[in-house]
Amino acid sequence: MDLDSSELLFRMSLTLFEKIINKEIPAEIIYEDEISIVIEDINPQAPTHLLIIPKKVIPKLSDASNEDQEILGHLMLVAGKIADQLGLDETFRLVVNNGAKAGQSVFHLHLHLISGRPFNWPPG
Ligand code: 5GP
Repeated sequence: MDLDSSELLFRMSLTLFEKIINKEIPAEIIYEDEISIVIEDINPQAPTHLLIIPKKVIPKLSDASNEDQEILGHLMLVAGKIADQLGLDETFRLVVNNGAKAGQSVFHLHLHLISGRPFNWPPG
């Protein structure tokens, strides 16, 4: 495949999750709509471990602004609906890692939805 330098730069600058949204990288897609996509985490930390990802690139939650209010609300509502559809018995945890020191490794906002085992508090 021949890519000119501008396309190469464009592809290199896409986040991992944009490549998944664009179907350039395969993923187990659980749900998709105009605003979001839900995929299985490649390295699950619980029997159910999903990533709820906005299609708009917001690197991390603290980068979101007032104009993102609808997107942020949508992600939360999708989490509840998916948990319901999967029969998670209204028992799940949502996690947002914000910043590398908080454990964020992919800088495209995402909610972790984890379920299927007991969770401790405070988290590690
Ligand atoms: P973070 O550490 O940024 O909060 O979460 C990133 C998550 O993305 C991790 O739980 C990691 O396992 C997951 N992840 C990393 N690479 C891939 C991938 O290529 N495909 C999928 N489905 N998940 C990934």
